[in-house]
Amino acid sequence: MERAITGWSCDEHGDWVAHLVCGHRQHVRHNPPFQERPWVLTAASRERWIGRPLGCRLCDEETPEPRGEVGGDSPCLASVG
Ligand SMILES: [Zn+2]
Repeated sequence: MERAITGWSCDEHGDWVAHLVCGHRQHVRHNPPFQERPWVLTAASRERWIGRPLGCRLCDEETPEPRGEVGGDSPCLASVG
């Protein structure tokens, strides 16, 4: 889920944490070659990322699964009881 960045903070390890518009926080590390985000290292470029979308894994996990409340002909639901 893409969420806009609203601000930044730094954790106790010196890693940068993006504050997202959904209220979640997500670490943004520059850890090459796995995570190439050199822009997180300078205040100027972090500022430029405010308002831009960042993929929020927490929102992805919290997205409710579509439930089968429509259709009534599911054999799995009919067998309860
Ligand atoms: Zn989120």
